[in-house]
Amino acid sequence: MSATRAAAFIKKCFRLRKRLLFVVCAMLFACTAPPSDSDALKTEHVVILVIDGTRWSETWGAAPGIIPNMATSLKGKGSFLPNFFNDAYTYTNSGHAAITTGVNQPIDNYGDELPANPSIFQYFLKQTGKPATAAWIVSSKDKLHILADTKRPDWQGTFQPSVNAGVSGPGSGYRMDSLTLAVAKNILSTHKPNLMLINFMEPDGFAHAGNWENYLRGISRGDRYAKELWDFLNEHEAFKKKTTLFVTTDHGRHLDGINGGWTEHGDNCAGCQQIYLLALGPDFKKGEVTARYTLIDIAPTVARLLNFEMNSLVVVPRIDTTVVELAMDSTLVPQQKDSIRLEIKMDTTLMKAKVMEELFR
Ligand SMILES: [Zn+2]
Ligand SMILES: [Zn+2]
Repeated sequence: MSATRAAAFIKKCFRLRKRLLFVVCAMLFACTAPPSDSDALKTEHVVILVIDGTRWSETWGAAPGIIPNMATSLKGKGSFLPNFFNDAYTYTNSGHAAITTGVNQPIDNYGDELPANPSIFQYFLKQTGKPATAAWIVSSKDKLHILADTKRPDWQGTFQPSVNAGVSGPGSGYRMDSLTLAVAKNILSTHKPNLMLINFMEPDGFAHAGNWENYLRGISRGDRYAKELWDFLNEHEAFKKKTTLFVTTDHGRHLDGINGGWTEHGDNCAGCQQIYLLALGPDFKKGEVTARYTLIDIAPTVARLLNFEMNSLVVVPRIDTTVVELAMDSTLVPQQKDSIRLEIKMDTTLMKAKVMEELFR
């Protein structure tokens, strides 16, 4: 072999080695790269609509019945989960906290207690660095302002979303759902938030008042407003084809004949626990998903959609709470407060909520 031929041969070997090295590197990268499912998702905005206290038997159990918009037009556009439950605390603040924190916990139902864990709003705002106007709670019930914060010390008062709740904030009373829908649309147009929870109260409010006709009217309005909201999102360039809408309820109502039937809720009867989830968006399959999920699974699914992490360690109140006897204080009497206080102990545990994998294309 001449010197020049030898040099050419060595050069060729180097070129081959470079190519080989490149191929090996590419293979290695392919093996170690994180799963790219979040990258491929189209969702940039998530809206969760909660039609408060709507029982299965008046909604999906009698479909289309008084929910023709959801049961025909919307159902065909996304996934519907009939095996969806609140299998824990079937009252409003607890159900909503389950949705926003991914954790079931007993909680004061009058708006005097914050959830034990940070919410999807807080995780989202912290990890994206976006302003408070990127995440909203828009609620007919004023007491749901509690969803904007947590009592977990390392998170309390931080990364809070914007709130528009009740007539004019905490303590101002409930407002009609048509007004809440108008406010929600206005906020969507103005701030183009990435994350919003909307609460409609009419079915629940009228049922507690024992008004069957208006309970049904509330459901049928909620059905109409859900369609109006979906159409609104698909008519606006900022949301079209990149927005996911969940429609659900926080709890059902007692089965007829149990504890006062449809007017109340709050126990573990089948009427209170059986709820539903309609999930529409560019990343979801169309059709019925029969897998069993519960309210807490919405939070990690939203985290997957908007590509943020939720800590797997969560705080749950323990059942063995301590009763603390307070010294009888005459100032407590006019406030109608008694002298016993429950001191709820907290435990740290692993988050049970899981991503609803079957929804994804
Ligand atoms: Zn409720
Ligand atoms: Zn019940």
